[in-house]
Amino acid sequence: IKKRIIKAEKMDIVSHLASSVSHEVRNPLTVIKGFLQMMEQNDIPEEQRKKFIKISIEEVDRANDIIRNYLTFAKPSPENKTKLNVKVELERTIQIITPLANMNGVEIVTKLESYFTEGETQAFQQCLLNLTKNCIEAMPDGGKLYIETKEENGDLVIVISDNGKGMTKEQVSRLGEPYFTTKGREGTGLGMMAAINIIETMAGKLSVTSKVNEGTNFHIRLPIVEECS
Ligand code: ADP
Ligand code: MG
Repeated sequence: IKKRIIKAEKMDIVSHLASSVSHEVRNPLTVIKGFLQMMEQNDIPEEQRKKFIKISIEEVDRANDIIRNYLTFAKPSPENKTKLNVKVELERTIQIITPLANMNGVEIVTKLESYFTEGETQAFQQCLLNLTKNCIEAMPDGGKLYIETKEENGDLVIVISDNGKGMTKEQVSRLGEPYFTTKGREGTGLGMMAAINIIETMAGKLSVTSKVNEGTNFHIRLPIVEECS
């Protein structure tokens, strides 16, 4: 399968940022308000109340996700650039996604070595989180999330792959397009757009290979900076 290098469609995103964020965040807020109003009534069965709270928390997370993913466009802050050890960064990501992986019966397999690159740790974490979450979400019945770091032609390469649902050619070609999601209400379609943008900001390249029912392989190429520069 040919590797496709994916590019974020920056087009109008930045100019429409403010209106998009407020529009997008209004949906989860409306849902949360509705549940709070229902819970204001006294005669709500306990079980129902718990369900309302659970959905409300999910919607808060969603609103948070939307804002964070948009912010990676709005607020590139070169002053926050530091030297990053990708092994340390990936270990932090793994810590955050392990509960989600466990819930999905996903085993995380790693082969990590220290390599240094430059970027903003916040943004890089967001990128790694978006990619690994997508992989886990592609394996609802369990599977393996594989994460590796290696050197290739003088560059640093991070491989993140899953053996989940995979994507059709058409889906692969739409990665990075804002609002492209196959997850319906659960998806935002902003995760890949943000991930690609972050890698490009770090002078890197994100490419993908995928096969339906076999899995997906993300390949992140980044410049190596020396440990003691
Ligand atoms: P979201 O996850 O909210 O749908 P993303 O921008 O993160 O938005 O991803 C867009 C779409 O790309 C997903 O809905 C899914 O269809 C597809 N996708 C991304 N990563 C994977 C993966 N690892 N396996 C299968 N499909 C994926
Ligand atoms: Mg996603």
